[in-house]
Amino acid sequence: MRGETNRGESFWRRLARRRSLMQLASTLALNSYATQGTTRGIPCPALNCYACPAAAFACPIGAIQHLIGRRQVPLYVLGVIGLVGALVGRASCGWFCPFGWFQELMYKLPTPKLRLTNRFNWTRYVVLATLVIAVPLVTREPWFCKLCPTGSLQAGIPVVALDPLIRDAIGACYWIKMGILGIFLAWMSVTRRPFCRWVCPLGALWSPLNPVSSWRLQVDQESCIRCHRCQQVCPVDIAVYQDPNAGACIRCLKCMGVCPVNCISVNSLGWSVEASRSGDPGIP
Ligand code: SF4
Ligand code: SF4
Ligand code: SF4
Repeated sequence: MRGETNRGESFWRRLARRRSLMQLASTLALNSYATQGTTRGIPCPALNCYACPAAAFACPIGAIQHLIGRRQVPLYVLGVIGLVGALVGRASCGWFCPFGWFQELMYKLPTPKLRLTNRFNWTRYVVLATLVIAVPLVTREPWFCKLCPTGSLQAGIPVVALDPLIRDAIGACYWIKMGILGIFLAWMSVTRRPFCRWVCPLGALWSPLNPVSSWRLQVDQESCIRCHRCQQVCPVDIAVYQDPNAGACIRCLKCMGVCPVNCISVNSLGWSVEASRSGDPGIP
């Protein structure tokens, strides 16, 4: 029905306009401190450092390394990641991950911009296979965590600032971590979400689930006029009409808001919500 269709589409577009509020709320909830006693053992659907003094949940990538280091199969953590991915694909990256949001904010800085394609984004799987699985298995140490810029930002800086004993004990490793963070901070300000696109092992685990998740995008190819507006606003620089369920898509719905012919729609649990032609002005 046209009336139902328009109401449904407006819901997604209205929701997408509030995405930054959702990202703020998620960042606060994942780092709420108050619930640490009861929730800290539960893996959250985002890369959010467990060592952050305010973290309320476990980081799933940290938990995987910890269990592999103890020679245990991280079935529970993989189950949580798989369940989230099966339901919404990579939507957690677009709506809930604090470090993903942080990268979007950094890109707003008024610096020269460097546009890069996603051609070499298989590097995420190299990181997953080496730093998250193989090296922790051999060394029993969580090497991804030791180098992770999320951990440096959320834990390394505040812990050193708050604790004089730790401040006195910092050595070369700390400054290597800070150097890696500095490189990513500079890269984030010139390129869209570089950590998500080329490094993050959590995004790499979710990517293959985008085409099979219950929440998918679809594009009416006959209506699409190949104007590329979708790609211009896309935080991961993909053309949604080429592959609406590409592994790189973080389900942010920004493309839906700017499409001039409203040919992008959400297909959730088999229920197709077609794009409205009611003159909705789109997402700013
Ligand atoms: S890919 Fe980016 S948004 Fe997704 S979990 Fe990793 S850091 Fe967060
Ligand atoms: S914005 Fe819409 S019409 Fe333009 S290329 Fe993207 S999907 Fe096609
Ligand atoms: S294709 Fe659309 S929904 Fe996917 S990341 Fe790009 S703008 Fe967001």
